[in-house]
Amino acid sequence: MAAFWTTADWDEHERVELVHDRASGLTAIIALHSTHLGPGAGGTRFWHYADPEDAMRDALRLSRGMSYKNAMAGLPMGGGKAVILLDENRTKTPGMLAAFGDAVHALNGKYVTAEDVGASEADMVAIARRTPHVCGLPAQEGDAGGDPGPFTAMGIYLGIKAAVAHALGRDSMAGVRVALQGCGSVGSGVARLLAQDGAVLYVADINADRARALADEVGGEAVFAETIMATPCDVFSPNALGAILDERSIASLNCAIVAGGANNQLARDEDGDLLAARGILYAPDYVINAGGIINVSLEYLCRQQGQPCDLDEVNRRIGQIPDRLLQIWRKSEESGLGAHRVADQMAQELIGRA
Ligand code: NAD
Repeated sequence: MAAFWTTADWDEHERVELVHDRASGLTAIIALHSTHLGPGAGGTRFWHYADPEDAMRDALRLSRGMSYKNAMAGLPMGGGKAVILLDENRTKTPGMLAAFGDAVHALNGKYVTAEDVGASEADMVAIARRTPHVCGLPAQEGDAGGDPGPFTAMGIYLGIKAAVAHALGRDSMAGVRVALQGCGSVGSGVARLLAQDGAVLYVADINADRARALADEVGGEAVFAETIMATPCDVFSPNALGAILDERSIASLNCAIVAGGANNQLARDEDGDLLAARGILYAPDYVINAGGIINVSLEYLCRQQGQPCDLDEVNRRIGQIPDRLLQIWRKSEESGLGAHRVADQMAQELIGRA
């Protein structure tokens, strides 16, 4: 086994904390990739990892992704991420949440946490009893904060519309065929927004009931999870797992655009080159899926300053996502580099690592 700081995923992380609390049984990793632009902000993932090496890989890859995401969203935040290693029964106790809150607090605001997979608003409320360095807390009507999912979905919806205008020259989504992988918080939000514009929707989830229910709601068609990537469409929108774009799956794609919210969609950087070689327009995941972190970061920053934070500023910043994507696609066309490489270069410049 290679030491994790010798792997490519390490990527010069500023700090990685391994946390163990004997009393509660908490085992966690807090990874801080970069605090160049501000405190490292990124959610906490609660997951059972059969192999703890996967937990470290996840923490490192996700925290670097947060550095890039926050920088490209123009936020004064760096990149960090935490994972809590749950047992096979996914046991999560108040004691574990308290111990995790203490671990976040010990970092003195260098890391700000929020929801990620397996976490709820209630978990953030529990963590907030031990530290102020947490966001994604329940919000009052009209204020920033709360569940980031709908904000993420809004950014993806706007990004898909920009991609369709750019690649297909169409300024309406009416009749545009979109195949959505994943019908959870983000995927279902994107589907509902697209349905209002008259898009033709194909939806898939490993939970077939969830896909059927969403298809019924939005007037779309439920497709088998195994075949959604090869479904003929204009836009393939991945909103489930990461690393789904590899040599084999890219060869099977039957679309003009890939634009969705899943983190770390490319299995390897080279897979972004394969997309570009096939002439498929790619919306870099950490640019198009920044709506949720924009919402909770502004919630955090306003609370730190003791000021209210209304949704207008959140929506204004989410509204900038299409322009950021257009900038990337234009640079990609000028340089011949894939959109993923252009975005990485822009993000690295912003965090002082060009
Ligand atoms: P979620 O858990 O609510 O939904 C994920 C859905 O994907 C579930 O319904 C699940 O059954 C389905 N799924 C899992 N594997 C699948 C497969 N192979 N094929 C089809 N469906 C599959 O999660 P979410 O909050 O909607 O997040 C979706 C993705 O977006 C994740 O990759 C997450 O990291 C990313 N993301 C989410 C946010 C947010 O604000 N929630 C922000 C940025 C990025």
